[in-house]
This record gives sequence, structure tokens and C-alpha cells, in this order.
Amino acid sequence: MFWKTLSALTISAVLLTTLAFTGTPSKEEPPDLVSITPVGALEKELVRQPPLEENKKITTIPILMYHVIEDYSGPYEQLYTSPQILRKQLAFLKEQGFSAVTVHEALNHWKKDTPLPAKPIILTFDDGYRSVYTEAFPLLKEYGFRATLYLHTAKINTPGGLTTEMTKEMAGYGLEIGSHSLTHPDLTKISPAKLRNEIRLSKKQLEELTGQEVTTFCYPAGRYNSRVREEVMKAGYLGAVTTRYGPATNRENLYSLSRIRINKSDLLQGFINKLNRY
Ligand SMILES: [Zn+2]
Repeated sequence: MFWKTLSALTISAVLLTTLAFTGTPSKEEPPDLVSITPVGALEKELVRQPPLEENKKITTIPILMYHVIEDYSGPYEQLYTSPQILRKQLAFLKEQGFSAVTVHEALNHWKKDTPLPAKPIILTFDDGYRSVYTEAFPLLKEYGFRATLYLHTAKINTPGGLTTEMTKEMAGYGLEIGSHSLTHPDLTKISPAKLRNEIRLSKKQLEELTGQEVTTFCYPAGRYNSRVREEVMKAGYLGAVTTRYGPATNRENLYSLSRIRINKSDLLQGFINKLNRY
């Protein structure tokens, strides 16, 4: 089942192209629209499960992936979740007894056995759209949920992006700020020097902005390979998330964790179906 999903995603990746972007999605600048995964033997190598330590418990944690929280119909509308639907989804999670933790906390649990609540789930919001502050943040506060925000620093203080103040306020509240690079490039296509800069300088800039350590990374458009993953490890991150579809577990390489993409068309029932599959 998992491999069937993978091959379907790989086909989508071949058919569609995702470009780097700097603003709100537009026809010209489609952001993380499709789940890109490396193909063939490389993908198998990247997702190969590391040997599990003796007596290590396997934990599965769904990491949900959101982008823009707005009402919208048009090109790339699947990246949007309406605020009303997000409210219903969060209410469902609350009713079902889920507790939202951050990617950082999940990694600490997997690496250092720090405790997690009984039904952990992770909400991630990619790219730092302003609606994450104006629409999602009030709902997260209302439902008592935390989240991990993956920001690429070039988008901060641009139209449609988060401002410095918004980012600081959300970090101060307890949302995790993770790095999504400096400029959202395809990290597999840039020079070694630029790659290091995208991974390291974004971490430094976000740490200076929030006053908090940045410990997790999100590959722009899900594009990575073993070289990119190695650089993320060497830069001091605890782990990284991809756009590969599925729940995250400590059977995966912690520098290429799977996520569950939430689309506009999921509404509430599709969201429930995606969660019930695991
Ligand atoms: Zn992105």
C-alpha cells in the first residue's frame, strides 16, 4: 500500500513541476503543489529503514502538512484550506483526544525518549503565508494546539508573508519555527556553497529573529537527495520533513520524515479518512 502510494506520487512528480516562489501562490509561481520524491533506486536508498535499536518502541505520529489558510478557488487551490474547514478539522482532533506536539518534540522523543502525550499529532504549515498568523494562529490558540511553522527567510516581511513581529509572537506562544531554507530553491540543483548557505544561514537568521534554537528542517518542494540530507545533518538539525506521503515513524530516517498532505478538497471527511488510514 505504502509503495503503491509512493509510485503514484512519483508519477505525479514526473508529470508536474514545482517551482520556487516568493509570494502567495499565483499561476506563475506554483509552490509546493505536488509531492516530489526522488525516484527509483535513489528513493529506495533514501527511505531505507535504519536498524532499530534493541527494545526500541516504534511510534507512529501523523505529521499534517498545510500551506495557505484562506478561502480561494482558482489555480493551485489544493494548497488552500479554508479557515472554516481548519476549525472543523481541529475540533475533530480535539474531540478524538489528539494532542498537538512539534516536530522538535517528536524527534526528542525518538532520539532521547522524552515523553509524549497519549495521542500525538503534528500540524505543520509550510512557507510562512500571512494567513497562518491571521487565520490559523487564532484557531490554534482556541483549541490549545501547537504547530511547527516552516519558514523560508526571504519571504518574511514580503506582501502575503509573515512579518518579523508575527513570527516572534507565534514563536513566543510556543509554536516551533523550523527552517525551510533562505529562498526556497531546489536544493538538489544548487552548488555546494549555496546549499550550505541555504541550510545554515536560514537557521542562524531564524534563531536571531526568534531567540530560539531552530532544530528541524523542511526540504523546499520536498526535493532532497543524500547530499542535501547530509548537509542538513552536518548543520546541526535534529531531523527534517519531506513531502513523501504517509505517517512519520521512528522506523524512517529521521532526516526524511513522511507527512500527510491536507488538500482543499479533503474538507472534513477526507481529513478524517486520511487519519483513519493509520
Ligand atoms: Zn515550501
